[in-house]
Amino acid sequence: MILPPRTRFAPSPTGYLHLGHAFAALAAARAADRLGGTMLLRIEDIDQSRCKPEFEAAIYEDLGWLGLRWPEPVRRQSDHFADYAAELARLDDAGLIYPCFCTRAAIQREIAQSPSAPHGPDGPIYPGVCRDLDPREATGRRAAGEAFALRLDSAKARVAASPDLFFEDETRGRIAAQPEKFGDVVLARKDTPTSYHLAVTVDDHLQAVTLATRGEDLFEATHVHRLLQDLLGYTPPRYAHHRLLTNPGGKRYAKREGAVTLRALRDAGETPEQVIARLQPLG
Ligand code: GLU
Repeated sequence: MILPPRTRFAPSPTGYLHLGHAFAALAAARAADRLGGTMLLRIEDIDQSRCKPEFEAAIYEDLGWLGLRWPEPVRRQSDHFADYAAELARLDDAGLIYPCFCTRAAIQREIAQSPSAPHGPDGPIYPGVCRDLDPREATGRRAAGEAFALRLDSAKARVAASPDLFFEDETRGRIAAQPEKFGDVVLARKDTPTSYHLAVTVDDHLQAVTLATRGEDLFEATHVHRLLQDLLGYTPPRYAHHRLLTNPGGKRYAKREGAVTLRALRDAGETPEQVIARLQPLG
C-alpha cells in the first residue's frame, strides 16, 4: 500500500517557539511540498508539569504568522494516553516490559558503584536492577502503591524483533538499528503513562507519517523507535535528520538561553519573509 506523503512538526509547548523551531518547522513543510504531501502539526505535551496552554496557543499563532498551514484537528498527545496504554499492553502481553521502582538517586548510586557501567548515547544505561525482580515481589510493590516506571527489556525485545533491523535516513542512507546501546529504555514514566520514545513511535504510526524530519539530536533515538515499530508491527517512516540551528556564538538555540523567539522578532517589526530569509542560507 502506498501511503500519501506526510511529514510532521512536533513541538512541545514548554516555551515560545524560536528560530530553531522555525527552521525545523520549515524543514518539515518544505519536505512535504517537495513530496507533494502534507505537513502535520503535533503537540508533544506528555510532560504536563512543563507544558502550558499559553505556549500551545502561541505555537498556532506563531506558525500561522510564518505562513505555515496544517490539517485540523491537531493531535495533542495528552489527549491520547489511552492509545499509548493499549500499545504498552501489547508489549506487556509479549513479556517485553517490566516495572521499575528505582528512584533516579538509586540508579545514580548503582552506576557510581560500577565505574565500568556501559554508556549509551544519553549517558550511562540503566543497570537493570528491577529487570529480574521476583514477579511476586513486583506485584506486591505495585499493589502497595509504590510508584513505578515501565521499561523495555531490551535483550528480550531484540530476540523478539526481526534480526535485520534497518531504518532509512535521507542523508546517511540505510542504517542498521542498534537499539541495545540505549539499554532498557523507559516506555512509561512514574508520573506519565507514556514516554517520549513510545508516544512518538505510536503517533507517527497512527498519523501515517511517511517522512519524519527532525533534529540531528534525535538521530540516535531513531534506533529505539525502529525497534518499537518492529515489535508493534508498524510500517516505519523514512527519516531526515536536519542539522541544528546555532546562534551567532555557535551555540544551539534553546528555550532557556533566552533565544530569539518568533514573537520577539515579530514585536521588533520583523516580517515572516525576513525570518524565513534569515533561515534560508542555513537550509
Ligand atoms: N517533540 C520533539 C522535539 O521537540 C520532536 C519529536 C520527534 O521528532 O521525535 O524535539
